[in-house]
Amino acid sequence: MTTTSCAPLAGKTALVTGSTSGIGLGVARALAKAGADIVLNGFGDAEGAVAQIEALGVRAIHHGADMSRPGEIEAMVAFAAERFGGVDILVNNAGIQFVAPIEDFPAERWDAVIAINLNATFHAMRAALPAMRARGWGRVINIASVHGVVASAGKSAYVAAKHGVIGLTKVAALETARSGITVNAICPGWVLTPLVQQQIDDLARREGLAPDEASVRLLGEKQPSARFVTPEQIGELAVFLCSGAASEMRGAELKIDGGWTAQ
Ligand code: NAD
Repeated sequence: MTTTSCAPLAGKTALVTGSTSGIGLGVARALAKAGADIVLNGFGDAEGAVAQIEALGVRAIHHGADMSRPGEIEAMVAFAAERFGGVDILVNNAGIQFVAPIEDFPAERWDAVIAINLNATFHAMRAALPAMRARGWGRVINIASVHGVVASAGKSAYVAAKHGVIGLTKVAALETARSGITVNAICPGWVLTPLVQQQIDDLARREGLAPDEASVRLLGEKQPSARFVTPEQIGELAVFLCSGAASEMRGAELKIDGGWTAQ
């Protein structure tokens, strides 16, 4: 077996936003196992995340850009170019959640959810696409959500942002359709990460449930499989999107949701 077939993404650099935990870290690990060097980002344990990726035999660095600030996003893409020669694979993953009915939703939380979950995807693509075009190859993978295609009460900002991400993905796919760049969205159902753990804890507190009971209730409400999707499964899907087999997948919204949106 040649090195190329073992490490199909060797020589590529992937920038994964919000990759110090959860899905972002899972995607970064899968891309690293496929041979890509990784630029990590996020507010969690940066050193731990860098060490985990380096242990997979590739190069890793962290940039602490706040994804709600366009200037910092541009600086991060420039940093990736300077340190690793450019961004070949961009995974827009950073995201936050806030749950409240519209009439009680703090305006500043609305702005933050839209800024990090939607606007950041635009700013990062805007900064990364020119170099991908110059090289004639690129992959943009936007981590949307089932909430990009269906809604849940209490999640106005998140649902609006994720529907926006899917629309933006389609526009970017059309604008790059005659190039070697593809742009697609992954739409996960429930994945057990810090973002969801917080919702489980809130449910347990509200209903006086044990943590396990709250998890079962959360899954039971929406996800027919009654199992969490894993960050590793999403990572493998991202690796597939970087393959030659996926080179004519453009503007897709790929659901990986235990049947959530089949209902
Ligand atoms: P998480 O909380 O584990 O990870 C979020 C990451 O984003 C962390 O690294 C955090 O530090 C980073 N982050 C948050 N605000 C940031 C900011 N302003 N600037 C830079 N980094 C920031 O959450 P997760 O569940 O892994 O979520 C990752 C993505 O997957 C999000 O876009 C989320 O909407 C999406 N998603 C999650 C689920 C799920 O069930 N967990 C389902 C569908 C979609």
